[in-house]
Amino acid sequence: MKIGFIGLGLMGKWMAKNILSGGHELTINDLNPDLGKELTSIGAKWKSTPSEVAAESNLVFTSLPNPKAVISVTLGENGILSGINSGSSYFDLSTTDPDTIKEISTEAAKKNVFVFDSPVSGGTIGAREGTLCIMVGGNLLEYEKYKPILQLMGNQTLYCGEVGSGATCKIVNNLIAMTLKVVLSEALSIGIKAGVPTMKLYEAISMSTGDTQIMHTFPNGLFSGNFNPGFKLALGAKDLGLAIKLAESLDLPTEIAPIVQRKFLEALERGWGEESTHSVARLQEELSGILIRK
Ligand code: NAD
Repeated sequence: MKIGFIGLGLMGKWMAKNILSGGHELTINDLNPDLGKELTSIGAKWKSTPSEVAAESNLVFTSLPNPKAVISVTLGENGILSGINSGSSYFDLSTTDPDTIKEISTEAAKKNVFVFDSPVSGGTIGAREGTLCIMVGGNLLEYEKYKPILQLMGNQTLYCGEVGSGATCKIVNNLIAMTLKVVLSEALSIGIKAGVPTMKLYEAISMSTGDTQIMHTFPNGLFSGNFNPGFKLALGAKDLGLAIKLAESLDLPTEIAPIVQRKFLEALERGWGEESTHSVARLQEELSGILIRK
């Protein structure tokens, strides 16, 4: 199949590579042309605008930082919708909000194009290994057609419901994941100050009710003082904003989410936006005077 992929960052480059390895014709684009070099060396075709990518493809994917970028790449000048062929489909793998994808879907329907929100979970390792969870919102029958291609990127694909449902699942997941990062750093600093080594606490929690997938990213991240992204702190802050905005749009009060968001905004102000989300724990390290390390 002829497939287009726009957004070749920490996640997109691996997902695009897995599509190419699946034997499909791949056309790519990113704001940064350097990010296309490795893929073109193994057979992908570079185009200089999303519109040109879409014109070459029957199926288009994006993996972009935020809703603003997704709107620009789809509805903007030289965007996907200006080039896409009638009868094609578009999947957005980025973490955005339900309103963004619904707006794009409404515009795309005028061109007989199906739109899906299909955010992913599993990080850069899951993207590299093709083991992501992909949460899909959109037309069920069309989704079934493209499932084998999604499965090149993620061995766990889940149909969530109508357009926007995948985005909702992802936003809810990331509110939990970012909250856990903050709570874990606070809890671990208490345990360490009380005299138990970090890895003993880790072992105990791993066997107990406080265990969580997020904590298993700590040994190679926070516990090693490794703040290379991974998942950039700026994107975590964006996701917290999306969660709070979604709650507000539903007239639903939140109490914990704004506290977690404040931590992320403070970390952003420190200039840690391009570092991994593990950096948020450094605020707790400063407050407590405790280093949460192996
Ligand atoms: P990233 O910042 O590394 O990559 C985003 C890419 O989009 C960059 O290469 C950038 O140049 C490109 N881009 C931005 N605007 C563009 C435009 N107008 N036209 C073409 N390209 C453009 O981000 P990432 O970590 O790869 O994340 C991508 C998305 O996936 C985000 O929405 C993020 O929240 C989500 N996500 C990330 C992870 C993770 O672990 N990194 C995990 C799950 C979901």
